[in-house]
Amino acid sequence: MLDSRMDSSSASSGKPIVVVGGGHAGSEAAHAIASMGQTCVLITLEAAALGRMSCNPSIGGLAKGQLVREVDALGGLMGRVADLTALQFKLLNATKGPAVQSPRCQSDNIAYNRLVVATMAALPNLTILEDEVAELVVEDKSVRGVLTVNHGLIDAAAVILTTGTFLGGVLHVGDEAKEGGRAGEGAAHKLSASLRAFDFRLGRLKTGTPPRLKAASLDFSVMEIQPGDARPVRFSFDDLSIIKDQVPCYITRTNAKTHQIIADNIERSPMYAGLISGTGPRYCPSIEDKIHRFADRDSHQIFVEPESLESDVIYPNGISTSLPAEIQEDFLRTISGFESAEILRMGYAVEYDYVDPTELHASLMTKRVEGLFHAGQLNGTTGYEEAAAQGFIAGVNAVRRLRSEEAFILRRDEAYIGVLIDDLVTRGVQEPYRMFTSLAEHRLLLRHDTADLRLAHHAQELGLAKPGYPEGVEKKRALLKTGRAQLASKFKDGRSYEKALRQPRVTLLDYRDELPEFFEEPWNDETRRLLEAEVLYSGYVKRQEDILRKLRRAESMKIPENLEFSTVPQLRAEAIEKFQKIRPATLGQAGRISGISQPDVALLMLHLGRLQRQQKES
Ligand code: FAD
Repeated sequence: MLDSRMDSSSASSGKPIVVVGGGHAGSEAAHAIASMGQTCVLITLEAAALGRMSCNPSIGGLAKGQLVREVDALGGLMGRVADLTALQFKLLNATKGPAVQSPRCQSDNIAYNRLVVATMAALPNLTILEDEVAELVVEDKSVRGVLTVNHGLIDAAAVILTTGTFLGGVLHVGDEAKEGGRAGEGAAHKLSASLRAFDFRLGRLKTGTPPRLKAASLDFSVMEIQPGDARPVRFSFDDLSIIKDQVPCYITRTNAKTHQIIADNIERSPMYAGLISGTGPRYCPSIEDKIHRFADRDSHQIFVEPESLESDVIYPNGISTSLPAEIQEDFLRTISGFESAEILRMGYAVEYDYVDPTELHASLMTKRVEGLFHAGQLNGTTGYEEAAAQGFIAGVNAVRRLRSEEAFILRRDEAYIGVLIDDLVTRGVQEPYRMFTSLAEHRLLLRHDTADLRLAHHAQELGLAKPGYPEGVEKKRALLKTGRAQLASKFKDGRSYEKALRQPRVTLLDYRDELPEFFEEPWNDETRRLLEAEVLYSGYVKRQEDILRKLRRAESMKIPENLEFSTVPQLRAEAIEKFQKIRPATLGQAGRISGISQPDVALLMLHLGRLQRQQKES
């Protein structure tokens, strides 16, 4: 969990930690800092936009749902806000094994934004300042503050940049391009220049969003209805009441006519016309990309999602586009249920600057400037959940650095957050990075429903656990242990119930009459599901844990910060260059750098072993 001790000469200076940006990363960072008792100033372009959803009105999804549950288990903000403002809940992959199931909710984006604003306003140690940060103030390679456009210099003990899609932001619709961070909001250009001045490596990425439609203009009767789950799985481990009347979503589809219009006009999409240089997310393509890349498909699904109970806005998920306005109108009208669609806002693409995340330590502090942290879309990721996870870690580590405590770093086998950050800082990004279950090699250990069992002790150490939470988690752990023992000791037809529950699709409900104790207090739906998953996976989990123990010993081997990699005998020039650039902190991190081979790691390990022996002898 912990790597080298972070030190800050400003520890007793009384200066605040400054968070730049109030999106999902910035809100989470400021919430963690203020909750840890440290003063924080959050500077953002629009104070009313805290936690605003730039794109899809939903939280969670495959692997993203795990991130949200982990943030919640650690004492973060996102899971609570998502639960309290959800319009419907759906457990994705519900028919597959628990390790790949992920919670997702449709969010009321107006209520979500309002609740983030209200929560932040109530935090005692937090000041929110509406302004643009134009420059970083750095002395002796240490950040000292930020220069704002309207409030001048703001001194800071640490600075966390979470500027999302706003740095050098350009919005595209057809051949029209204008500066902007997202629809209706201006871009921030000056800060990119300031980052370049400190030699940070910047690149360009792009993402896109669909047009928004007026609900009253759509014919839902021809669409397929998608109700929420009867037994909703929420994000937060807090006992929050959740909505009873879930709002349905709908499904419709594109067709041959839609595809023809898009194919005929594809050259008018700024991406295809060569007007956009940034790389877009491969797994979340625009509708023009889908038609171009999957020419054999005659239809694509569109999820028709309400944005809020307080608005008449529909988000048609799956048709992100930056085609010219008239083409967007034409193709929408060909879609079943959209024939009379009124467009409230055109779809568009946004191109923006990101900073190469291999510039960061695993604490999310930059290697070039002490006390400067980067989190969120600025690091080349996409998605609210990825942003929130990084914001939380950056916030926590900015505080820990002020207190001269070790950085808080989650391992890859401990949390999806650990996988996310390790991937970013060791591999960098070639396209917008989105979390997937396939990226977590230890995913069997990282189920969404075990996030509290895995992480509550960290929340406690960080001072972010609510009263009673760690004790509740320990009670749950003990209950599961007792449950396992009971199942192993009771037999039916010569076979233990534990074995019986390992069969596919067999659940405790099948033994309701024979095992009534599991249907009485303190058992509930959640703990029964947990117990079933534990029984199902126990063999794999044990094997994984054995392998991990061995791996961990080698992987956690520390690499001295000042190691001159060119002194490692026989190491290839390419490996030396990569190690010098990324400066991995451990052998495990070194091994995950793209282009690094097993022999490179073996040579490094031998060298570290030699250094350790020399140290012992001297
Ligand atoms: P943001 O939420 O963008 O917040 C950035 C914050 O920084 C804002 O509050 C802004 O005011 C502030 N700021 C910026 N510069 C300054 C400055 N110099 N001074 C002061 N404040 C500043 N994600 C998906 O997962 N799937 C998608 O399909 C998807 N599509 C998207 C489409 C569009 C058009 C956009 C804009 C985003 C899309 N996203 C998508 C990304 C998603 O919105 C982001 O990943 C997420 O919001 C990132 O959170 P963040 O906190 O890093 O940044």
